[in-house]
Amino acid sequence: MRSYIIAGNWKMNKTVAESIALAKEIVAKTKGISKTEVVIAPTYLAAAKVADIIKGSNVKLAVQDIHWKDQGAYTGKVSVDMVKEIGAEYVIIGHSEQRQYFHETDETVNLKAKKVLSAGLKPIICVGETLDERKGGKLESVLTAQVDGAYKDISKEDALKTVIAYEPVWAIGTGVVATDEQAQEAQKYVRSLVAKLYGESVAEALRIQYGGSMKPDNAAGLLSQKDIDGGLIGGAALKSDSFFSIIEAAEKS
Ligand code: PEP
Repeated sequence: MRSYIIAGNWKMNKTVAESIALAKEIVAKTKGISKTEVVIAPTYLAAAKVADIIKGSNVKLAVQDIHWKDQGAYTGKVSVDMVKEIGAEYVIIGHSEQRQYFHETDETVNLKAKKVLSAGLKPIICVGETLDERKGGKLESVLTAQVDGAYKDISKEDALKTVIAYEPVWAIGTGVVATDEQAQEAQKYVRSLVAKLYGESVAEALRIQYGGSMKPDNAAGLLSQKDIDGGLIGGAALKSDSFFSIIEAAEKS
C-alpha cells in the first residue's frame, strides 16, 4: 500500500517571518495526521528556521532545488550537504519553472537526482507536458524522455526512494486543473514507464503525486484515482487552511 504524500512548494513566496508563521500553523493543524506524509518546501533563506519549527512534528522539510556539485564557484547555488545539514529530507527537482526559466534539462535533473540520493535524501522528480505538446499528441513521448532521462544510471534500490510529481505545465499556477481522468491516464502511463525501467514491484511501490492547481475543492477527486498518491501544491500551499484541507482529503481518501 502506498501512503499519500502532500508537499507544499512555496516557490519564491513568503519572507522568513511569514514562513515561520505559516510553518507554525501547519505544525499545529497537522498534529492528528497519521497516514499522510506532509512536506513543505520554503525558500532556502527560510529553510533553517522552518526546520527548527517542524522538529518533532508531523511535517518534513524539502528544498526547491540543489546544485549537483559538492561545492565551489557556483554563485547563487546551494549544495546537497548544506540542505542535509539543516534537516531537509526531500529535494524538488526538475520543476517546470526550473525547466522553463533556468535551463533545467533531463540531464541536469538526472545529475541532481543522483546527488540527492547519494546524500541519503529523497528527490521529488517533476515531469509533465506543455499544452502544445499535449495538443500535438506528444504526451507519451515527452513523459518517456523525462522519466528515462531522470532515472539514467539510478539503481532499483535508489529508485524506490524517489517520488515522481506529474505536473502538466498547463495546469501549474493557472487555475486550470487536469480532470481526474486526464491526471489518472498520464500517471498510469508514468507508472508503466517506471515498470519498464525497474519492474512491476518498484512501479507499484513508487509514489506519484499530481501537481497543477490542486485545491481543496478538487483534491478529493484527484486523490481517489488509482495512480495518484498525493499532491505537489503551489498556490494552495501558501495558506494553512487550504493546505490542510488537501491534507485532510488525503487522510480520508
Ligand atoms: C507547483 O508549483 O508545483 C504547482 C503545482 O503549483 P500550483 O498548485 O499553484 O498550480
